[in-house]
Amino acid sequence: MTAHIIDGKAFAAQVRARVADQVAMLKDQHDLTPGLAVVLVGEDPASQVYVRSKGKLTVEVGMASFEHRLDAGTPQSDLLALIARLNADPEIHGILVQLPLPSHIDSDLVINAIDPAKDVDGFHISNVGLLGTGQKSMVPCTPLGCLMMLRAHHGSLSGMNAVVVGRSNIVGKPMAQLLLGDSCTVTIAHSRSKDLPAICRGADILVAAVGRPEMIPGDWVKPGATVIDVGINRVAHGDKTKLVGDVHFESAAQVAGAITPVPGGVGPMTIACLLANTVTAACRAHGLPEPE
Ligand code: NDP
Repeated sequence: MTAHIIDGKAFAAQVRARVADQVAMLKDQHDLTPGLAVVLVGEDPASQVYVRSKGKLTVEVGMASFEHRLDAGTPQSDLLALIARLNADPEIHGILVQLPLPSHIDSDLVINAIDPAKDVDGFHISNVGLLGTGQKSMVPCTPLGCLMMLRAHHGSLSGMNAVVVGRSNIVGKPMAQLLLGDSCTVTIAHSRSKDLPAICRGADILVAAVGRPEMIPGDWVKPGATVIDVGINRVAHGDKTKLVGDVHFESAAQVAGAITPVPGGVGPMTIACLLANTVTAACRAHGLPEPE
């Protein structure tokens, strides 16, 4: 069997096109331009790439993009002061602080200083609590993108066995909450889990969010399962480097029913969901109906 390849790049382009239509409508009918502020502290090369592409795609869908680049040595108090200004700015509907932050800054403190209504990353403790209790919240972008692809592929996920490998606050835990919300039976595995291969083999939906290159081989995958590979790992490839996921794609694609590639799977959906969340935040801020 060869798996259906879930094309995250094409899916993300559709989501962005829908966002662009919504932005055009908000401008036309309500004179409202959703605005997204992205804050980058320091010069981490991967973060710089993400921030650049977020800014570019924000403008492409017609929204206002505000970039704040701060020196690596910026005091925490200056960052908190910036966030307070962004919280108070009516032109800004979404605020994203690019992680990781330099070690002298308390990331939790900074994230929880963002107005939860503008927390388009969905990491503020209020949004985490709302998601955990099944209430309306801002949903973290990467797991939201995974859920959208799963729903598009399967329709209903009800009753399926889902295994999420990884329990981080930004991917694993919210992913598990979302799958539970869609009535999956959810197992969260992590570095202390016993017999991970057996756990994975029980999954109708297997989400890998570990950060270990090609750790999950095809023989851990249940025949016909849907595999969502969140991992982004840069590995040596001859005298160059290439990106691979947490799943060994070639062997898993022989067994799975459907699989996301790396690159071109989950990654593009993350930014598309960030843009969608910003439109949602703008609508909520103005008491307008939210996009579907
Ligand atoms: P973290 O490092 O925060 O979490 C990794 C998780 O994997 C931890 O829960 C850890 O367990 C678990 N783990 C580590 N080793 C093993 C092992 N041998 N067996 C089982 N579980 C293990 O990573 P993130 O969640 O932030 O990111 C995961 C991956 O997803 C990374 O490759 C990252 O680059 C990628 N990513 C991709 C995004 C995208 O847009 N596509 C967005 C965000 C992340 P424990 O808790 O026990 O230590």
